[in-house]
Amino acid sequence: MNTPNHITLIGAGLAGALLATLLARQGWQVDVYEKRGDPRLKGYAGGRSINLALAERGRHALRLAGADEAVMAQAVMMRGRMVHFLDGRTDLQRYGRDDSEVIWSVHRGELNVILLQIAEDAGAKLHFHRGLSAVDFDARIARFNDDRDDSTHEIVFDSLVGADGAGSALRAAMNQATDLGERTEFLGHSYKELEIPPAPDGGFSIEANALHIWPRGRYMCIALPNDERTFTVTLFLPNEGEPSFDSIRTGAQARTLFERDFADALPLIPQLERDFEHNPTGLLATLYLDRWHLDDRAVLLGDAAHAMVPFHGQGMNCAFEDCVALAERLLAGNDRAQAFADFQQQRLRSARAIQAMALENYLEMRDRVDNDDYLLQRALERE
Ligand code: FAD
Repeated sequence: MNTPNHITLIGAGLAGALLATLLARQGWQVDVYEKRGDPRLKGYAGGRSINLALAERGRHALRLAGADEAVMAQAVMMRGRMVHFLDGRTDLQRYGRDDSEVIWSVHRGELNVILLQIAEDAGAKLHFHRGLSAVDFDARIARFNDDRDDSTHEIVFDSLVGADGAGSALRAAMNQATDLGERTEFLGHSYKELEIPPAPDGGFSIEANALHIWPRGRYMCIALPNDERTFTVTLFLPNEGEPSFDSIRTGAQARTLFERDFADALPLIPQLERDFEHNPTGLLATLYLDRWHLDDRAVLLGDAAHAMVPFHGQGMNCAFEDCVALAERLLAGNDRAQAFADFQQQRLRSARAIQAMALENYLEMRDRVDNDDYLLQRALERE
């Protein structure tokens, strides 16, 4: 029997903070346990992508949580893809007919800070430096580790919600109690982030309101604007072959690649060698689970349930949709095991579809957007 209107969330990232807000605003008692320190005190220490494309799906969830206005105050509009051809020409391919059909670039760290503040203001209790390390599902006890002094802390829970990302510790614990049908498919391509600083006059050094793409067949670069007038560039390369993260290991080798394939981007990235050598190389994979919950004791959402490759810019947007769906099920007051089962039923197929579209869009972005047939088709669509 669950304590009515109390729930324990694991992870205070994007999904955890949003779900906490949606439930706390409806009077639920929400405890959120987060492995890292409070980013509002020390700045955001996330190791992953600096900015994210926010689409209407995500904005809908932000509106329901009362977070849209604060988030949009620091968002940069992206009207379409700015394709950079090998010969230096560019072409803006709009996402829609006008500015009512656009996407937005948001800073992951700023977004997380806004969502945490809104969650706390709504009454959620946030517990930082609490990394989930083990779960006894029979006794309903969760164990956490504090990375500052390696101390261990235990809590008793009714239900756990895993919003602890692609490497979810809750998912690992659930897998020991029941077979979730988990499999991970690695893409065979990885990414590295680089930075375009502001222009000498303090403005953006290339068109601000676009998602820039340098498509080069088997690989590509993209760049998204940040509100402080920088761009975060992401270089996607295969793990093996030529060129690849195996063949390009030093800053000097990266420069040679850029001179050949991304010549118009090279002068925009003054710290190319440093960024390439210091920034981590991120792996890309798709996570599939057949089951997202363990009766009424635990459920997964966001990347913990369905991590995907980033080429459709929908991982966070999809995680936000999960939050709305799960909150609706819980607030409807159904038996909690039923609420979790209904949530899985509602969202699993959608997540699979978005995962497939994300994989498909990698081919489109790196291989088709600079193709003559494709450009003709897009031009006709715009007529
Ligand atoms: P996360 O954001 O990963 O949050 C998980 C939280 O759990 C973190 O705060 C973490 O510290 C915490 N945690 C981890 N382990 C534990 C533990 N044991 N105990 C307690 N807490 C723990 N999506 C988009 O919609 N648009 C984009 O443009 C986009 N671009 C991307 C680009 C790249 C390169 C990558 C890698 C991803 C991109 N995504 C994008 C996907 C997006 O980042 C994720 O889908 C989103 O972050 C998922 O949110 P989440 O809350 O489920 O997980």
